[in-house]
Amino acid sequence: MRIGQGFDIHPFSQDPHRPLVLGGVCIEGARGLAGHSDADAVCHALADAVLGAVGLGDLGRHFPDDDPQWEGAHSMDLLTEVVRMAKDQGFGCVNADCTVVAEAPRLAPHIEEMSAKLSTVLHAPVSVKATRAEGLGALGRAEGVACLAIALLEQA
Ligand code: MG
Repeated sequence: MRIGQGFDIHPFSQDPHRPLVLGGVCIEGARGLAGHSDADAVCHALADAVLGAVGLGDLGRHFPDDDPQWEGAHSMDLLTEVVRMAKDQGFGCVNADCTVVAEAPRLAPHIEEMSAKLSTVLHAPVSVKATRAEGLGALGRAEGVACLAIALLEQA
């Protein structure tokens, strides 16, 4: 068995037309996050957890944010590729757990869909939880969204 953790944070974008994508779910009517890819902080944290478990470094090492190839990339595709890389190392996911820290928008209505989409990509149960920063710091001022993730993998 191997365990890995991941953390990611993105500020909200100034572009009013940028969609908000979290856990592969596009949340209508919410301000999007700034980033080189689609800025899906949930996918990024989870991908880092999977990479960490198998000792493959971090997402930025495999998909550099200064590489035009990954500009606007769908992070679910990056996560899919990370799961494949873990499989190449002989590991499959057992389960994962994510905590999204967001003051806004309200994520409760989207949690189940995120969980289902991420579980499909990991071929394992992925729990998604949402919490608020209670007004503290940049997250509490709703300047961005962060996500913590942990993943357990086992040798196939
Ligand atoms: Mg990121």
